[in-house]
Order: sequence, then structure tokens, then C-alpha cells
Amino acid sequence: MDKNLKIGIIGLGLIGGSIFKALCALKCDVFGVSRSEETIEKAREYSSNVSTSMDILKECDVIFVCTPMNKTLETLDKLESIVSSKAIVSDVSSLKSFLCKKDRPYQFIPTHPMAGTEFNGFDKSFESLFQGSKWVITPFEEVKQNDLNTLSGIIQTLGANPIFSTPDKHDEAVALISHMPMLISQALFKAASGNELALKLASSGFRDMTRLALSNEEMAQDMLNLNADNIQTSILNLYASVGDLLGEDYKNKITEIKKIRQDMYKDGVNVL
Ligand code: NAP
Repeated sequence: MDKNLKIGIIGLGLIGGSIFKALCALKCDVFGVSRSEETIEKAREYSSNVSTSMDILKECDVIFVCTPMNKTLETLDKLESIVSSKAIVSDVSSLKSFLCKKDRPYQFIPTHPMAGTEFNGFDKSFESLFQGSKWVITPFEEVKQNDLNTLSGIIQTLGANPIFSTPDKHDEAVALISHMPMLISQALFKAASGNELALKLASSGFRDMTRLALSNEEMAQDMLNLNADNIQTSILNLYASVGDLLGEDYKNKITEIKKIRQDMYKDGVNVL
């Protein structure tokens, strides 16, 4: 990655704060923008280039929009009158298709880091969040190879592995592995919570199965609103899988599932 790049981050929460802290630690030329003065004061301990105004991003070569999903479109719109036509603007929101409906006067390349925690805000962000994770890049119009290389270079510098896909395929995939599991985790907790003894007896299996019930509520609501069709299809797929498993040959089918699941993670890391 070219250390002379001026990199802007808007929304210094869990994801934006983690990108900001990691790039500050690497002594990159970083500019941070966030909504509240309180967050900006905390960010000032890492860099003096921080503000509640996006005007400080005028000279940036690359900008990551890391606001909540429901603020991403309006932030991309505001940037149109601020950054140069040569700037690469990216985002990190958990859904991609809804952002790819219009042309932008800058080079817009949507992305989604496949890393996170159930916490939010600058205090919970940390520079190693992306180490060893995957980071999806979903170009949707003609993109200069140089710009893709620049963005991939930053993502690799943050410790993540870039994976290329399309916005639609991305949204379908994350419904299966992230949005449906979150909804199931919440529903599972709700189902058990009517039984006092069940909650008292619950141990690590139930804890692991319901971790996603701790997801950030604003993000969860955005996922359900913006990916409803894919989530519905995933849930129908899940019903069909339950039906299939409960049919004949249950033991052989779960033996096969167990084998694929065992091969997929080595020391807790997805090796596919
Ligand atoms: P977060 O911790 O709540 O951070 C969002 C930050 O955006 C807040 O700290 C807030 O800053 C700032 N903000 C809100 N409105 C703003 C505005 N209009 N202008 C500038 N800043 C604004 O949320 P997050 O978990 O980092 O999520 C951010 C994005 O990352 C979302 O699009 C989400 O889908 C995506 N994502 C999240 C995860 C995850 O696991 N959490 C994983 C991958 C991708 P103040 O503190 O200044 O109010």
C-alpha cells in the first residue's frame, strides 16, 4: 500500500474506528469524521485530522463510509459535492445492492469486511479487528484496475483477504450466513425465554447458538429492512433442510454435514 495516500473514514464506530486506529498505528495519512464531538475528542488522541465536518476530506484519495447502513446513501450523496472525481469512495455496510443504483461523480467501489463483534462505538473499536478476516469487494460498474488495486492494498494492509463478488450475490450469501442466523438466534432465545428452568440450565451450547442475539439493534433492523427477500428465501431453504434431515437417512446426512463443517474451520479459521 502507498503510504502517501490520504485516507478518510466517516463514522468512527466499531468498524470505522477500527480502520482509523489500524491506519493511525501504521502512521498513514488518516482523516476521521464522525457525528458527535465526544467521539471526535477521543479520536484526537490518535490523529489531529479529525472533525465533525466532511469538508476535511476534500483532498482524500480514498474514503471509507462507515456510518450505520441507514445513513450510508445520504453520506455518499453528500460526498458528491466534496471529493474530487479521482477519489475512490468505498463503504463497509453489510448490504451492497441498495447502494448500487446510481452513478457517482467519483469512483464508488462498495465493500463489506467480514469481521465484527456484538459491540458498537469508537470505544469498542480496535486495530486488529480485521486481521485474518475476509473482506468482500463488489464492483458494479466499470472500475479502473489501478483503483481496485489501491483499495485491495489498503484492505490487505489492514490484515484482511479481499474476495471479489457482485452486489446481488453478496446479499444472497450474507442472508444465509449472517442475517438468517441472527434472526434465528433471536427467535431461539425468545422461544426458550418463556421457560425459566430452561434458561437456568442453559450452558455453552445455548450460549454459542444465541451469540448473534446480542447484535447491534440498529444494524439488525437495517438488515431485515434491506435484505427481506433474501432472508425469506434463506428461511424457506432452512425449513426445507429441516424437513430433509428429518426424513430418511438422518444419521448419514448429519455425518456428511459434520465432515464438511470440520474441514471448513482449522483452529477456528475458515479455510475455504
Ligand atoms: P457503530 O459502531 O454504531 O458505528 C457507526 C458510527 O457512525 C457511530 O459511532 C456514529 O458516530 C457514526 N455516525 C452515525 N451517523 C453518522 C453521520 N450521519 N455522519 C457521520 N458519522 C455518523 O456501527 P458499526 O458496527 O461500526 O457499523 C457501521 C457499518 O459497518 C454499518 O454499515 C454496518 O452494516 C457495517 N458492518 C458492521 C459490522 C459489525 O459487526 N458491527 C460488520 C461489518 C460491517 P458517533 O459516535 O460520532 O455518533
